Amino acid sequence: MDNKQLVTRIKSLFSNKRQRVAGLADGALDMLFPPSCLTCDEPVIDSDGLCSSCWAKLRFISKPYCPTLGIPFAADLGASVLSAEAIAHPPTFARARSALIYDDRARQIVSQFKYGDRLELAKFCARLMVVAGRDFWEEPCVLVPVPLHWRRRLVRRYNQSQLLADQVGLLTGFKVHNGWLTRKRFTRQQVGLSSNDREDNVRGAFSVTDQFLEQYEGQRIVIIDDVVTTGATIEAIARSFRIKFRSKIDVLSFARVVMGPIGAI
Ligand SMILES: [Zn+2]
Repeated sequence: MDNKQLVTRIKSLFSNKRQRVAGLADGALDMLFPPSCLTCDEPVIDSDGLCSSCWAKLRFISKPYCPTLGIPFAADLGASVLSAEAIAHPPTFARARSALIYDDRARQIVSQFKYGDRLELAKFCARLMVVAGRDFWEEPCVLVPVPLHWRRRLVRRYNQSQLLADQVGLLTGFKVHNGWLTRKRFTRQQVGLSSNDREDNVRGAFSVTDQFLEQYEGQRIVIIDDVVTTGATIEAIARSFRIKFRSKIDVLSFARVVMGPIGAI
């Protein structure tokens, strides 16, 4: 366990107490362990931010982008122009947005968060996601994290999408729902699989409870994920909802893979 993990662990112990006590603990710990950048060891003012050099290396996704899939374009060809992917394979969900292009820097952040027990990164990622999904917050919605199979959760001890959804919920004020969407069979990791194999791997892997569908009929749903690669997982999730729900499903992720040169349409 490195210093950052240690400080996070100690702060999480204090956060179970009153907020004021947690604040004092933060101050004392910041004196003992001055805050450093989340992805390098440069000193920073806040304990949950990046230094200016790491920040400048992030590749944010901003307009112009495909209004359906959120894939960035090199030039603005009009708000209704879709990406080649959206035309070739129209998704079941309505819109997808991501904060960053999934490059080496984003991969580093995600793997520290996902496999390195650096749970404080959830707050940082969620802040960027809330900005990327700003169109989603114009009307009420329900936040639903991509579930982990219980076997994988047992090993990892936490679901990274759940932590992101909790932080997005805190920032937007929208409710997070867990347990309504489940991964009903264990699937292989998507990493390293071809596009077709990814689709096969997750087809029919998710189910939504009837109770959720009855309770939230007519409401918009925002699926929260850490990284969208080919979109096979979120497509499988969207298909697990009844047809009348599907036009109201949006997807928000921290990063997404962008294949080929930006602007290929
Ligand atoms: Zn840095």
